[in-house]
Amino acid sequence: MQKIMVAVKRVVDYNVRVRVKPDGSGVVTDGVKMSINPFDEIALEEALRIRERGEAEEVIVVSIGASDCQQQLRTGLAMGADRAILVETGDRLEPLAAAQVLLKLIERESPELVILGKQAIDDDNSQTGQMLAALWDRPQATFASKLELTDGKATVTREVDAGLEVIEVDLPAVVTTDLRLNEPRYVKLPDIMKAKKKPLDTVPLADLGVGTDAQFKITNYAPPEQRQKGIMVEDVAGLVKALKDKGLV
Ligand code: AMP
Repeated sequence: MQKIMVAVKRVVDYNVRVRVKPDGSGVVTDGVKMSINPFDEIALEEALRIRERGEAEEVIVVSIGASDCQQQLRTGLAMGADRAILVETGDRLEPLAAAQVLLKLIERESPELVILGKQAIDDDNSQTGQMLAALWDRPQATFASKLELTDGKATVTREVDAGLEVIEVDLPAVVTTDLRLNEPRYVKLPDIMKAKKKPLDTVPLADLGVGTDAQFKITNYAPPEQRQKGIMVEDVAGLVKALKDKGLV
């Protein structure tokens, strides 16, 4: 295959303890470590392995967001992607708009495989890949824990309640990644230097003709309730009493 496109979203690093702004309008991102969404790192790792096996020629990494997303695209290039595209916008994008933008890039680049994370860990939507497949009118294989390519088809193993489900889809297709698909590589310093010379194109969102009108409004963000301090009980009788006192038994 010629091209694989991988979508990477810039999100608050998963190790950061997220803080909600006092007015409930969002989470604090100033001075906070930002990273590639972990599932998107897995998506990129998979694309790189496919290319390294000689089954693809080029891996293009794409992101939608503010100019800061260049940092995550550079990390993607340092991991091994061949080139990057940033669709630049200061607006918050809902999954449908993100999918519409990705479709525009697909129309420009004609990849045979598009890999996304199963969900972005900031908003936990898990919608973009599915919407993209519908808009593109191509098959989707979501939550992949194994991916094999043969003769214009992708065979994807998915973890479902009953065990492992294996499905086959015709390419081009959309695949979204689950945690166990692979372990992404670490970026080495020389690769970071090399990545500075790789092409990173910026396209203003307005050039793609995709609107960012919201379909829903986030009315409030609130941190999870603080856990109450626990108590120590002497024995089972004490435990039963404590549960009774709380009206739990
Ligand atoms: P979501 O539907 O928001 O949970 O996102 C699912 C996946 O879609 C992510 O793991 C990314 O691969 C992709 N995606 C969503 N939003 C963006 C974005 N702004 N830029 C790049 N990729 C995105």
